[in-house]
Amino acid sequence: INNFWNPVINIGNFYNSLVTATTYLERIFETMDEQPTVTDAPDAFALPPIKGDVRFNQVSFRYDEDGPLNLDNVSFHAKVGQTIALVGPTGAGKSTIINLLSRFYNVNSGQITIDNVDLSQVTLESLRTQMGVMQQDTFIFSGTIMDNIRYGRLDATDAEVVAAAKLARADTFIRTLKAGYQTEVQERGDSISAGQRQLLAFARVLLADPRILILDEATAAIDTKTEAQLQAGLNELLKGRTSFIVAHRLSTIQQADQILVINNGHIVEAGRHADLIAKRGEYYELYDSQYRMLQAE
Ligand code: ADP
Repeated sequence: INNFWNPVINIGNFYNSLVTATTYLERIFETMDEQPTVTDAPDAFALPPIKGDVRFNQVSFRYDEDGPLNLDNVSFHAKVGQTIALVGPTGAGKSTIINLLSRFYNVNSGQITIDNVDLSQVTLESLRTQMGVMQQDTFIFSGTIMDNIRYGRLDATDAEVVAAAKLARADTFIRTLKAGYQTEVQERGDSISAGQRQLLAFARVLLADPRILILDEATAAIDTKTEAQLQAGLNELLKGRTSFIVAHRLSTIQQADQILVINNGHIVEAGRHADLIAKRGEYYELYDSQYRMLQAE
């Protein structure tokens, strides 16, 4: 359980796609195991355009009324533009933090705020249209590459789509396809690789340009060349946005402004990589065990 971020050892099943805006959320709901139960409060108002300051104030939450707390008194502050890496073993509560921030569930106690507005007071639509969410299944529909990227913002021009693809580092591979941006791809086809699908998903989010980005980082085995492009594309994606990453790549974790080490529903450590290493606590042990594993290979 210690090597949770290692893409080499822990080959996971994360194939991501980025989705944003309400129409796309219907898709998220379709793919989610749990049915969302949250509805707008009678006096809910639209969240104004956000900057992306996020606070969890003593948040506790349980999925089952009679069950244990799945998050216990969690507090943190993500400043505008910061990258927050969530790390910890399976079942620790990382996805739960994300689920609450996206308000798929309401907190049992405490408060989550964006730009100091309590999430429970705003309409779901106004909240979710301002967040980009990267799901585990890349959603590609049958159609052209151009339209697949434009899905991030339906009124984007062709020039804007190409500009986003360039920033996302997707343009290079797209130009190698037989019809470039007009190449038809199939929903279930394998004409493009997992890594390339992720690059398309990056381009979508860059088009949508949400202030808050949530993503579950890919751990799938990806060829070295695509891997380098993914890293560059990801860095572009993170620029100027508040981002929450369920992080698996060490490089992402090392670059994060804050690492939240989650265990058993608690934040057990928080800080930057160097600080947490110096602390020689739980994070250090996780890192050390991975380092040794990599040395052993
Ligand atoms: P992580 O993302 O760190 O792997 P999760 O946030 O998914 O962990 O899970 C935290 C805890 O909540 C685990 O004990 C898990 O079994 C439990 N849990 C997650 N989803 C549900 C659910 N829909 N119903 C009941 N318990 C859940």
